[in-house]
Amino acid sequence: MLRLLPNRPLCRGFAVAAAQKKKTIADLSKEVSLKGKNVFVRADLNVPVKGGAVKDKTRINLSAPTIRYLLDQGAKVVVSSHLGRPKGQVMEDKRLTPVAAVLEAAIRAPVRLAPDSAGPEAAAFVKNTSAGEVVLLENTRFHAGETKNDEAYAKQLHEVSGADIYVNDAFGAAHRAHASTHGITKFVSHKVAGLLLDKELTALGTIMTSPEHPVVACIGGSKVSTKLPVLESLLAKCDTILIGGGMMFTFSKAQGYHIGRSLVEEDLVPMAKEFLAKAKAKGVKVVLPRDFVVAPDLEEASSSKALHADVASYKGDGIGVDIGPLTVGDFHNEIKDAKTFFWNGPMGVIEVPRYALGTDAVTRMAAFLSQKGGLAVVGGGDSLVTVQKLGLFDKITHVSTGGGAMLEFVEGKVLPGVEVLDNK
Ligand code: ADP
Ligand code: MG
Repeated sequence: MLRLLPNRPLCRGFAVAAAQKKKTIADLSKEVSLKGKNVFVRADLNVPVKGGAVKDKTRINLSAPTIRYLLDQGAKVVVSSHLGRPKGQVMEDKRLTPVAAVLEAAIRAPVRLAPDSAGPEAAAFVKNTSAGEVVLLENTRFHAGETKNDEAYAKQLHEVSGADIYVNDAFGAAHRAHASTHGITKFVSHKVAGLLLDKELTALGTIMTSPEHPVVACIGGSKVSTKLPVLESLLAKCDTILIGGGMMFTFSKAQGYHIGRSLVEEDLVPMAKEFLAKAKAKGVKVVLPRDFVVAPDLEEASSSKALHADVASYKGDGIGVDIGPLTVGDFHNEIKDAKTFFWNGPMGVIEVPRYALGTDAVTRMAAFLSQKGGLAVVGGGDSLVTVQKLGLFDKITHVSTGGGAMLEFVEGKVLPGVEVLDNK
């Protein structure tokens, strides 16, 4: 039988999270003066850029406090980030020029964009910058050595920055052992977490180690295969698990229901069945959708033809595109009494506005719970889009900037970019 999940004790995640108490820039500034020192900051400025304009500033804005903090301590800050996937080539539309302008506004200080992240020209550029200014090194992924964690490139990055202090604030890239998130740390005396990384690790760490019960998780998105390890890890922590999104249909199928042409991963139907049995044995309540929205295809033009369908009695050949209103009610009943709520992955095809209703509802529930004192943690690129669309970013306890990194953390995996930092 296909086994995607490593056979490991489920409690492993607890040990990992507990071990990840990392020194922060605030801790470091009590030990050494940052005044006049060069500090290298790996930020996650990987934002969507279209036609030379930044389409979503969230990640840049959230990177600002760490850079601002270092500037206020009198440091010369050298920031680096990747943008997109230029795969070791210089690509004009992947330059950090539009990012630099947004960063400048976010930190209210001049940001000078260096011509490269390696080589003598970039090094001279950093040397000619004074304390109180910020240098942004050009896209690290213009060098193939970045994703290969190549030692020679890591050394060059370090040399360009002239820094003996390394700060990782890029949670979204912390699950990758790349030159700027991992290799470079070999060359510095201090390697600490930035304020954003610390916030992410604290919020997610609470879910992993000491969440207040009842703990409810809601998992959606398109593929069961990418979410199964997370579901498995959540079994050890949750009282209730809600399942929506395209994933739901593999579970519906596992229960013997007809799903038309909905998204399904046939080879994972037995795993879905096994998961439900395991949850039952552990006393974890799994809530699967009892109704859904069904459409003839995924085109927006067809969305006026979408209908409501009952999971147990559906016989048609449409495609399931969102959870239905009864399911929204069921999910609400579970989330409203939770003390801790973790959510990743949309409930439907949110790219079509009419199919975003289930996801909008869950987003509002996360905000509602946060406002009444519960802990809600939401993450994943697509979930984040909805949070921003509804203007609820500040109303939710913690919105994670990490997609893959957040999932790996919740799976109980060690994040290489975090592991390599100094312990508290
Ligand atoms: P996240 O980025 O938040 O982790 P995923 O990448 O796992 O989420 O999933 C997001 C995608 O899932 C979206 O592009 C959305 O269209 C898709 N999706 C959600 N529900 C369905 C569905 N019923 N059928 C097909 N795709 C779906
Ligand atoms: Mg995604």
